[in-house]
Amino acid sequence: MTLLAIRDLSVRYAENAPAALDGITLEVRQGERLGVIGESGSGKSTLAAAIAGILPRSAALSGAIEWPKLGRPARAGADVGIVFQDPSSSLDPVMRVGEQVAEVAHAHLGQSWSAARAAAADLLDRVKLPDPAALARAWPHQLSGGQRQRVAIAAAIAAEPKLLIADEATSALDTIVQAGIVRLLDGLVRERGMTLIFISHDIALASQLVDRIAVLKDARLVEIGPTEEVLRRPKSAYARSLIDACIGIDT
Ligand code: ADP
Repeated sequence: MTLLAIRDLSVRYAENAPAALDGITLEVRQGERLGVIGESGSGKSTLAAAIAGILPRSAALSGAIEWPKLGRPARAGADVGIVFQDPSSSLDPVMRVGEQVAEVAHAHLGQSWSAARAAAADLLDRVKLPDPAALARAWPHQLSGGQRQRVAIAAAIAAEPKLLIADEATSALDTIVQAGIVRLLDGLVRERGMTLIFISHDIALASQLVDRIAVLKDARLVEIGPTEEVLRRPKSAYARSLIDACIGIDT
């Protein structure tokens, strides 16, 4: 079943600016994991923002983003949870982390504060934070980068979104912490039946987690296909170069 259908989507941030997205057409099925790969500036975050409906007002969008089951645009935070590269951008520095997660459940699920706090404690446990009860009372700055990202993930899924978008969510973390976050996303998506869009410049990392890979280059979709197929038989020279670059790093 199609969760999300994007048809001929183009985005410009200003009238005379080059297109940040140019004629993107793709579908995302309910429960699938799609990797969106491309170098910096290729349009990945713009695609995430367009899907979540959080592009700046000044951006001009043409084409369509349809949610057949919802029958309306998705609401960021409720229908779509997003985790960004820098958890500081989504966490409030002067609010205890447990309250931040509880606030999402309270605002979007209409839970009472006591139910929302209980849900937050459960979520902090689910994202495998140590001693979640104590940690819920901590301020963001008291946590490590990896712990902050786990809190950001808990907040992103607190409203039980259909779709989770991880936008370079592990890129600022060292390799071991990164692997832990990838395992966490894998488990959460599986256990909650969520759909995942995993955005990364790193095709090798994404391929550990996703069923299909979409490759963006200069605002265009240059390739999309099942992960194994893209890795083994890339159709575009650009996807081939991304794969070869990873092999170069590994050997
Ligand atoms: P990626 O996520 O792949 O790095 P982006 O979607 O962030 O790519 O950027 C695509 C293009 O849009 C780039 O040329 C970038 O400079 C431009 N861009 C992104 N966000 C904005 C913005 N808020 N205002 C103006 N231009 C932007």
